[in-house]
Amino acid sequence: MIIDVHYHLIPGITEEIVARSARYAIRAAEIMGKGLTPEAIKKKAFETWADPTGDRLIASMEESGVDLTVICMVDDAGNSRLTPETIQRGNKIAGDIAQRYPDRVMALAGVDPRRPGAPDMLRRCFQEFGVKGLKYHPDYGYDPGGADSYRLLEVLAEYNGILLTHTGPLMPPSRCKFAEPLLLADLAVDFPELKVIAAHMGFINWRSWANLAAHQPNLYGDLAMWDAYAFGRYELFCRELRDILDYVGASKVLFGTDGPIFNTVELTRNRIQLLRELPLNAPKGIRFTEEEVEAILGNSAASILGLSGRDG
Ligand SMILES: [Zn+2]
Repeated sequence: MIIDVHYHLIPGITEEIVARSARYAIRAAEIMGKGLTPEAIKKKAFETWADPTGDRLIASMEESGVDLTVICMVDDAGNSRLTPETIQRGNKIAGDIAQRYPDRVMALAGVDPRRPGAPDMLRRCFQEFGVKGLKYHPDYGYDPGGADSYRLLEVLAEYNGILLTHTGPLMPPSRCKFAEPLLLADLAVDFPELKVIAAHMGFINWRSWANLAAHQPNLYGDLAMWDAYAFGRYELFCRELRDILDYVGASKVLFGTDGPIFNTVELTRNRIQLLRELPLNAPKGIRFTEEEVEAILGNSAASILGLSGRDG
């Protein structure tokens, strides 16, 4: 079973969305040594990202062999163009798609905890839109372990939802200190049942995440954005992933693509193939087992998401 735990549903495309998100793909293309111009990446973004019905998502899952995708929305209370109404409209679209494809898609709402009405917004996402969890981008400027966040996490815990939260530095205007994995430390104490996926595992700062994940049973991480290194610096990627698995085990590391943002640079099918071939292709002195790869690609996520009983 292949599960992508990190995919951004983008109902409609605007210049602003492309400008904001394409630069990550442009940076990844540089690391990967792909001869793609920023213009080519932006053009592809305009052509392929908008997906108001989920049809594009399902088509790309068919094409790449992904069985289940966790789609997420992102809220940013610091962006004056985003109002609670526009955010809830997006959350409803994500929830509707998940309800249309209940075996293929699971939705996470985007709600910024700094909004005064955030707890009610999230409650409505669960009750009316059928979401299964919450997505955070704390580097927009809030502490995921702070008081505002706790009001929201109480609602999340009430509905037994999962939290996918960005970790790891990004380029400005990302406020990287809020993406520090250690800010998630108290969640395991105050919300012991809450399943938390630290997107990117803190990225290059993965040791900070692994140090926690090794001790906290419900803290996980995903491989989104790591494909820049997987394709661009294969040996470095293998070394880092091996160390990560040696510290925390393959039950903690989940496949995620950050699609469709990085689909402008590399196909999901090729990402899966690269992981599948790790046991064969890893450089001398580094070994991966097929069990580890299957765990990363979906078996671990299936048990976290409560899908283990389903057919692959
Ligand atoms: Zn993301």
